[in-house]
This record gives sequence, C-alpha cells and structure tokens, in this order.
Amino acid sequence: MPNMDLLTANDKQGRYPNSYYAKNANHILELPSLFSDIEVDVCVVGAGFTGLSAALHLAQSGYSVAIIEAQRIGFGASGRNGGQVSGGQRMDQEGLESMLGDEHARALWDISQQSVDLVRELSADMNDCGVVDGIIHTAHRERYVSEEHAYTDHLCDKYGYGKIRNLSREETRDLVNSPAYYGGTLDMGAGHIDPLRYAFGLARKCVDLGVMIYEQSKVIDVQSGDPALVKTEGGLVHAKFVVLACNGYLGRLNHRVAARVMPINNFIIATEPMSESAQEALIKNNHAVADSKFVVNYFRFSLDRRLLFGGSESYGYKFPGDITATVRKPMLQIYPQLKDTRIDYAWGGTLGITMNRMPHFERMEGNILSASGYSGHGVAMATMGGKMAADAIRGQAEQFDFMASVPTPRFPGGMMLRSPMLVLAMLWYSMRDRL
Ligand SMILES: Cc1cc2nc3c(=O)[nH]c(=O)nc-3n(C[C@H](O)[C@H](O)[C@H](O)COP(=O)(O)OP(=O)(O)OC[C@H]3O[C@@H](n4cnc5c(N)ncnc54)[C@H](O)[C@@H]3O)c2cc1C
Repeated sequence: MPNMDLLTANDKQGRYPNSYYAKNANHILELPSLFSDIEVDVCVVGAGFTGLSAALHLAQSGYSVAIIEAQRIGFGASGRNGGQVSGGQRMDQEGLESMLGDEHARALWDISQQSVDLVRELSADMNDCGVVDGIIHTAHRERYVSEEHAYTDHLCDKYGYGKIRNLSREETRDLVNSPAYYGGTLDMGAGHIDPLRYAFGLARKCVDLGVMIYEQSKVIDVQSGDPALVKTEGGLVHAKFVVLACNGYLGRLNHRVAARVMPINNFIIATEPMSESAQEALIKNNHAVADSKFVVNYFRFSLDRRLLFGGSESYGYKFPGDITATVRKPMLQIYPQLKDTRIDYAWGGTLGITMNRMPHFERMEGNILSASGYSGHGVAMATMGGKMAADAIRGQAEQFDFMASVPTPRFPGGMMLRSPMLVLAMLWYSMRDRL
C-alpha cells in the first residue's frame, strides 16, 4: 500500500466533497478540534453512522463519550452514499445458509431487519430527512429474473418476509422507465434517506446528550490498556473503552482490521432538478432502484428532484479525474433519454469491503471494539453496528460477539498486494457485466 493518506487523497482537509448532499444540508455548529488531555468512559474514532450510533446509544445510558473525527461529521462514506436503506446482509440469505447454517442465517436476517427499523426510528423526528419507502431491484439479464423471483419466494417462505413482491418485465418497465431491465422485485420494507442529513441528525442527538465531538482531529495511535490511550496530533484521550469506526478510511491505524477490510471507491452524479412529471417518467412513486450488475447501478431522486445516479467503482487510491464522464456512461445506458440533461454534482467516496462481503466486527484486548467492512450495505448495518458496539460496552455483548463470530477472511497478499489482486478479480467480474 503506498504511503498515501485516504483521508486527504481525494479531499481537502476539513472540507466536504462537491456532493449534492454537502451543498444542500446544514452542518451543526463548527465543532472544536482536540488540543488537550481528556478522560472519558468511551472514545469513538470516526463520526460516520457507526461512530455516531455507538456514541448516541452509549450517551443514552449515561456514559461519557468523545467522538474523535479526522475530518468532519459524515465526511466518509456515511455522508456520500446512495442512501439506500436495505435489509438483509450484503451476502444473500441462501449464501449465508450454506456458509453458516439456517440458525445463524436467520439471526443475521433478524439483525438486518432490526437495522432498518433502527434507521427509521432514529430518523423519525428529523424534520429534514426520513426514510422514503421502496427499493426496486432490477434484473439486467433475462436469466436473472427467475433467480430474483425465486429469492423473493425464499424470503417469504423461510423468513416470513411479506414486504417484497415480484415484478414482471412490464411492471418493472412501468416503474423504471428503462429498456435495460427484464423484471425485478419491489421491497417496501426497504427505502432511501438523505445520508448526510441523517448523519447530522444523529450528531445533533449526540450533542444534546452531552457527547463531545472533536472534528479535524486525526487519531494517530491507539494504545490498549486500562485506560486505553487514543492519541491525536494535538491531544490525548484516556478511555475505558474505544470504538474504532473508521471503515474504508482506516488506513494503517489498525493492522488487524486493515487485513480484513479493504478500501474501494464508488461514485455518484446528481443531475439538474427535474419537474414532477419528469421524475415520474423515470422512476414512479419515488422509489429507489438497484440493479443486478456486479458493479451495481443504484439511483433515486433527491428531495429537490435531481436524479442521483451511482455506478462504477475504482480500486486504487485516487478517484478518476472526470467522475462526471465516468458515471454518466452507465447512467445513459439505463436512461438514454437523459443525454441532454445537465449534471450538477459529481463525487466519490471510499467504503470498506471484506473478502466475503460480510461486515467485520472485532474485539481487541477486551476494551477496543471495531465494526466496519459493510461492503456497500452499511446505511442500516453501520447504524446497527454502532448500536451493537454500544450494547457490548453496556454489558449486552450477544449480538456484537455473534457478528464477530462470522468469519471474514484476510485478503490474500496482505496490505501490499491485496489491491492489485483485487483489481484483477473485480475487473473480471465487471467485464462479465458487460458481456
Ligand atoms: C459512493 C457510496 C455509495 C454507497 N451507497 C450505499 C447505499 O446506497 N446503501 C448502503 O447501505 N450503503 C452504501 N454505501 C456504504 C455506506 O455508506 C457505508 O457502509 C457506511 O456509511 C459506513 O459507515 P461508517 O461510519 O462505518 O464509515 P464512514 O462513514 O466512512 O466513517 C468513517 C469515519 O472515520 C473517520 N476516520 C478515519 N480514520 C480516522 C482517524 N485516524 N482519526 C479520526 N477519524 C478517522 C473518517 O474521516 C470518517 O468520517 C455507499 C458507500 C459509498 C462510498
């Protein structure tokens, strides 16, 4: 791994990216940086959904908590993502059943459903954001339709999940006006949210409960012990517990986690605002869409009716020079009718993936917990991951320890070689998308 800092490789210190979200959400007050020694019950490193949710749930139980964030609240994947709030894990239930057996697969399904409920509950009183119901999964190959439909039946029969239904080709076309899809499913238990507003909403709740949030305070070392010591460039935190919530931006801060959670980049563009009828002519009923490609295309409308279209990935440290051109290409394959539509925003973000796409939870030295590697499926699961870490510290460790028992193998090649090997594997799969 080159000596490049992911926290600044594509971004300026202290500045949000040129995203639709950052330009349209009000940050809470400027928060201080850490320039002193402090003592707390729990130090949370990273102010994304994992860290904010961990801090919030701990503060609700009376713990003193400090969040130490290298950049700004929601600066990472949490403030840049597609906003899709979906149940299930990134690995599907059939995969989990064969990997872990029915009982564990069921427990993972239940946790995923709790994660969606948790986002709904936490965002319910945030007046500028909330979950909009419905994700349509579309099949980009005819042969995938029967697979998707059989999976719906499986969820219904085995898990009693009745919020999803199959869509014929005509029904899919009626909801998503694209020639690219052959059928799909509509999951009304899932939905979408403005992710940065949600992160700010969580941060406001934290501040109201007395959580100290320090921005622009990069943690440079975490030493285990009692207390554990969390060192920034300007200060020191003595903490009984530490929650590492750095996900794709972790870098070299913890080698055990870094061996299993690898950063990759994903990109989104936002069109100019459209009329209500233009919106309905592309996606009906304000649902979100995710397709069956290996490099998933995912899209939905913003509050001010821009199409937010996510697609394409990169596996090096640097983002492509022209993100607009990179993402406009898959957008026009799905919606050729948008060829004259202006693109107003383009941005990228870094997320953490694992070898088998299951999140990586780990407890180190007893009092250092880490939750990350949601593999592009973290709006709900990271919120839940933070809560599970908080529960473990509050003395109810069952769920956290269960998640930690799910195997997440190390990437072959170690930190130096994993990127080139992953690039080869990913290129092969994304080439299959095109064939
Ligand atoms: C473009 C994109 C689209 C996505 N779309 C979806 C989607 O539609 N649905 C979905 O479920 N998931 C999606 N994801 C994934 C989802 O956003 C993540 O899984 C989730 O936000 C992870 O939250 P987190 O808090 O663990 O990590 P992050 O939000 O990345 O937060 C980590 C934080 O740690 C901080 N940090 C790192 N190192 C240090 C340090 N040394 N000191 C202090 N702070 C540090 C970072 O600055 C950052 O703020 C997407 C991700 C991307 C990038």
